[in-house]
Amino acid sequence: MSKSARKYLIAGNWKMNLNSAEGAELAKDVVALVGAQTDVAVCVCPTFTVLESVSKVVSGSNVQLGAQNMHFEASGAYTGEISAEMLRHLFANFVILGHSERREYFGETDAIVNKKTLAALAANLKPIVCIGETLEEREAGKVNEVIKTQLEGALVGVTAAAADALVVAYEPVWAIGTGKTATPEMAEEVHAEIRSLLAASIGAEAADKVRILYGGSMKPENADELLAQENIDGGLIGGAALKASSFAALVESAQKLSK
Ligand code: PEP
Repeated sequence: MSKSARKYLIAGNWKMNLNSAEGAELAKDVVALVGAQTDVAVCVCPTFTVLESVSKVVSGSNVQLGAQNMHFEASGAYTGEISAEMLRHLFANFVILGHSERREYFGETDAIVNKKTLAALAANLKPIVCIGETLEEREAGKVNEVIKTQLEGALVGVTAAAADALVVAYEPVWAIGTGKTATPEMAEEVHAEIRSLLAASIGAEAADKVRILYGGSMKPENADELLAQENIDGGLIGGAALKASSFAALVESAQKLSK
């Protein structure tokens, strides 16, 4: 399967920003700019309290909804948590899992990310599983080791049947929110490694279907080159997703490359 068989995905991670009215405004602008095109899959991921207002705005457009986290249990005594079913009820299609900020500040381990990934897939939510090395790990020459541990740890029990739904985001921690971006060559090297690890675990045909996003200071100025790489199938976007015009410019980059 060639790259062109995988539809680009541009996903915006709004993090802990915007209230429900502000989120609806941003979503309205995003829908106005890219809600009618169908070449590229587009998704915005607001915080939990903003999902409902944004869900109403994006409904009927090509902009899809995602969450930034979820719990792995379906319901019960888990104060403060949100289940996959609750997200589906608000028409979310995607969920970001194992973001480095969740790993760093909230103690998420590969085992927890694995439980969440399985629960998301079981509930028909597409998991965007985030992996990536710190600067220290890169400088110690441990990129492939870290990627392998995180990817295999997150995907225990995930089979080839999940390939269409599964999204992996390679996010070098040193590039997130820092303005530092991996060069296209650096990113492609890791993306190709991720695809070969996927092939070893779910088979080459299934691995070819999995979208692998790059995340880490992707912006309109560097998107064309990153997205043109053979194994880069889109972006997970933080800062640049908070402005409709820059987010739309990233979608347009992917659109150009889809033709
Ligand atoms: C992210 O948090 O997933 C991210 C990639 O952020 P930024 O684009 O701001 O680096």
